[in-house]
Amino acid sequence: MTEGLSGGEAGRATSFIERLVDIQARQLEEVTPSPVSKKDANLKGVQSQLAHPALRPKKKLVGEDVAAQAEKFLPSIWVMRKRKLKGEPLSFVPREINARTMNRVRPFLEQPLNDESREKGYRKARQMGLSENSVSEVLWFLDTKPHTKAFYTFPTNRQMQDFSNTRIAEAISESDHLKSVMGDIKNVNLKQVGTSFLFLRGSQTERLGEGVDADIAFFDEIDRMPQRVKVAFEESLQGSLWGYVREISTPTVPNHGIDEGWNKSKQWYWFIKCSKCNTKQTLEWLPTDDHGGKVSIAEREGIHVYVCRHCDREISMEDRIRGEWVAKYPRREPSYYQFTQLMAPWITAERLFQKQEDYPFKQLFFNYCLGIPYLGDNVLVTEENILARQVHVSRDKWRGPRAMGIDWGDRSWIVVLQALADGKVGLVHLERIETSDIDEIVAQVAACFERFDVKVMVNDAGYGKDRNTMLLKKFPDRVFSCFYPNVEKGSKIFEPQWQDESHKVSLDRTTSIKLALGLFRVKDSVVIAPEVSLMELKTFVKHCTNLVAVRDFDEKTREIEEWIASTGQDHYGHAWNYAATALQKLAKLPKSECWDWNAEVLAAKRDGTMKPEASKDAQPMVPGFMPIKDLLQNSGGMANVRPDKAHCYSLKYGYDSAICGACTLQRSCKSICEGQKGDML
Ligand SMILES: [Zn+2]
Repeated sequence: MTEGLSGGEAGRATSFIERLVDIQARQLEEVTPSPVSKKDANLKGVQSQLAHPALRPKKKLVGEDVAAQAEKFLPSIWVMRKRKLKGEPLSFVPREINARTMNRVRPFLEQPLNDESREKGYRKARQMGLSENSVSEVLWFLDTKPHTKAFYTFPTNRQMQDFSNTRIAEAISESDHLKSVMGDIKNVNLKQVGTSFLFLRGSQTERLGEGVDADIAFFDEIDRMPQRVKVAFEESLQGSLWGYVREISTPTVPNHGIDEGWNKSKQWYWFIKCSKCNTKQTLEWLPTDDHGGKVSIAEREGIHVYVCRHCDREISMEDRIRGEWVAKYPRREPSYYQFTQLMAPWITAERLFQKQEDYPFKQLFFNYCLGIPYLGDNVLVTEENILARQVHVSRDKWRGPRAMGIDWGDRSWIVVLQALADGKVGLVHLERIETSDIDEIVAQVAACFERFDVKVMVNDAGYGKDRNTMLLKKFPDRVFSCFYPNVEKGSKIFEPQWQDESHKVSLDRTTSIKLALGLFRVKDSVVIAPEVSLMELKTFVKHCTNLVAVRDFDEKTREIEEWIASTGQDHYGHAWNYAATALQKLAKLPKSECWDWNAEVLAAKRDGTMKPEASKDAQPMVPGFMPIKDLLQNSGGMANVRPDKAHCYSLKYGYDSAICGACTLQRSCKSICEGQKGDML
């Protein structure tokens, strides 16, 4: 008898276990060690294979012995024997399918859970049960593999705490087995399972993975994590026999986060079979190349239903439940699965169709319901926007001060800007430094700084601490390190926060990037000098257009959060933002100061020897940096920021109208929005 199960359920589980073990054993007998690929030729790969004695069963086991063996290598068996959810044994298909149990019909979770690929990922719609599946996998891993360490990370500490206090804590408290093996350590962020440990972390810092050694690492909602987090972690997995990486995320924009991994993976799709014509197919919301571009949803008598993409007849609920996973690229190594709500038996086609209306943006429906990335209107700037700024401006206009921005990395990326006499922003120079030798980098930057007679530079703080210090020594008071601090909700900073004494400037990442890139969309605001290298300009365009806006919607608070994601390399885009910030520093100073700007002026300001009126009367002298309100109106609303209050979002005017952003920015939304409450979200 199977522990924790009774009656028909136990019988079903046992026969299921036997079937699986049978299949496994049969397959194993035929398998001779396959040639090890170059990538797997390291010790870890071989050791990893040897570390699975369960893969070589010597005799056919029966009953409880089967189950005990099976659960070591099949998490799904472990789950059914050791876990409960709301008092009932956890399974993938309930014994009885009815209205009450419908949302527990999740046959598509089983294979992904049992998949022991080193790199595994779930590109998922919301509410598909993948977090619960990952809870199962991590607890199974720790329970069946003694002396191991698992890391489970979330974008924020709050999400981590919620996950730890609810899902993990409940999974443990509902399971007699887990309760019996839990060690003394039961913190929010550290739990002991037998001789193994579970570390739970928020991933706001890139240093998350430093100085630890893990056997398995989960990145939950990886699309919303800093990009370098995973890279930092990879090292920590090097010493492990397993070195498993698990990515789970609702996608956002193409080639970012989970979609980056998905693109290189096996790409598992859930195939169903139409019982009327026997055609195997995926369920599609959008036209694809197969089945003549037909989609799986059609209207019948005013109601939306699922239909066969081949014979056009209705697809039954049973058909949708009886699916199987098929890999598009089976020879690839990373194993990523696609989960869409079209697979969910408890969501009807009609409901899904209605869900489109639930979200203020198309992106959210694509991400949350279809589980696929979406670009659409998330683009901040296009190639055409930028290249249209290659216009002729007479020589005599090019006589304002120049500013520089640098994004550090393995290569360094320089943007030099100039305030033009007629108020435009001139892009003067683009340069990349290929060397990684720090003295050489500093020498090249200094040469560029002097050649263009740059007044002030703003540089990436994250990567370039030593470099910025060395440059500051060379050019006192003219070098600023730029920070993108994590700003609490509701206390967003819209203007750069300068700390002259410590040579720092803080920017709100989302707002500053939107405003800086938005300049290209404002008529007569940017001019690209003919001297700018065309090759570098091409890269510049690529990097800038790789920065896109992403919106997330909190269904509880109905708040929209907007942030910037990268769909590829983005260094010049950040360098542009830093340089534009540097130019703002010049533009903020009084006119005379601006032209003769130097270290003494700043020093005088710092000592208080400069007349306060001078800075009070300071007018922005570069209309390229016009007041935000004007910029909003001139940029077709692209400069607006997320409405901190949902009521500022007006369906009538659409999110991209200037009104919404203006409300938030000016903090006078009452005067603007009050009259249209009826149209508010
Ligand atoms: Zn059919």
